[in-house]
Amino acid sequence: MRSYRRIATEEAFTTQSIIDETDKLIAAGDIEPGFAKIAGSILGDSPGARDVKRRLLDLGEGRIAQMDADGIDFALISINSPAVQVFEASRAVGLATEANDILAEAIKGRPDRFAGLAAVAPQDPAAAARELERAKGMGLKGFLINSSTAGEYLDLPKFAPIFEAAEALNMPLYLHPREPGPTMVTPFLDYGLYFAGWGFAAECGLSAMRLIMSGLFDRYPGVRVALGHMGEGIPFWLQRIDNRYGLQVKIGAVDPLAKAPSAYFLDNFQITTSGVMTDAALRLAIDVLGVDRIQFAGDYPFEDVKAGVDFLEGTPISAEHRSAIFETNAVAFWDLPATGPIIGAGQ
Ligand code: MN
Repeated sequence: MRSYRRIATEEAFTTQSIIDETDKLIAAGDIEPGFAKIAGSILGDSPGARDVKRRLLDLGEGRIAQMDADGIDFALISINSPAVQVFEASRAVGLATEANDILAEAIKGRPDRFAGLAAVAPQDPAAAARELERAKGMGLKGFLINSSTAGEYLDLPKFAPIFEAAEALNMPLYLHPREPGPTMVTPFLDYGLYFAGWGFAAECGLSAMRLIMSGLFDRYPGVRVALGHMGEGIPFWLQRIDNRYGLQVKIGAVDPLAKAPSAYFLDNFQITTSGVMTDAALRLAIDVLGVDRIQFAGDYPFEDVKAGVDFLEGTPISAEHRSAIFETNAVAFWDLPATGPIIGAGQ
């Protein structure tokens, strides 16, 4: 019998208001080219896309039943991508506030199975900071931002209020992918490259690297960030990132940071598995980061969560490592309930 809970940490939801406003925005037509691709695929009107929307909207018994079927004991639920980040500021703030109210209410009904991350609108950094404080008061455990907003990345000084609040409130950021922003998307528009097979990781990896290389973690050393998809490629590149940063410092091409880039990645980041299901990728992540910086995520409803569970149950790691990745790392990072029901226990 299992002794650990399986906690999934990148599990998406949306609200009917976000769907309705997104449909209106798409119908009006004045949208970024990358988002237009998303609008025509995963946010479109195919049977598959409609099924994804139905699953995203369900924060009740349907979601619990799917978690039971997939073998997920506890889900850390967060807003979908790109959600509120495509709207003008005041609409985005309102949609994020409503989404947080809906999520907090669902968690109140099932605190044994659900916790949540706040949605915020980076378009209004002061409002986002205030919403983080309100979200903390409602019991939400951190917040999620989908990479860049209108082509602007979170290292820019205008976003400082968000990180000030995140550090003061000890609310970790889940830095989640979206399609590449308008200044980088053009070569990604062909062949489906804007999507989660490549473009999402290129975009979100860039977002994370901008946070590191901007010195953000020197200014806010208490800011903690989670990256999905086994770290969006960064663990693979970390040695070379340090090596080439060293050369750039030596030739005066960049200003030195207080530490090597990899040190910020180890000190301020954790990664989640979300949809990466190979022994080799997990082994590399454990070798480079250590097992204590890796959490399990299902990426519901965009991935086969059961396949993710089966992968982590079957991959050749020790029982202690499996338990750390499925449960205890996430509990510590997000301040989740230390105990809870284990699905199938006693059967
Ligand atoms: Mn995801």
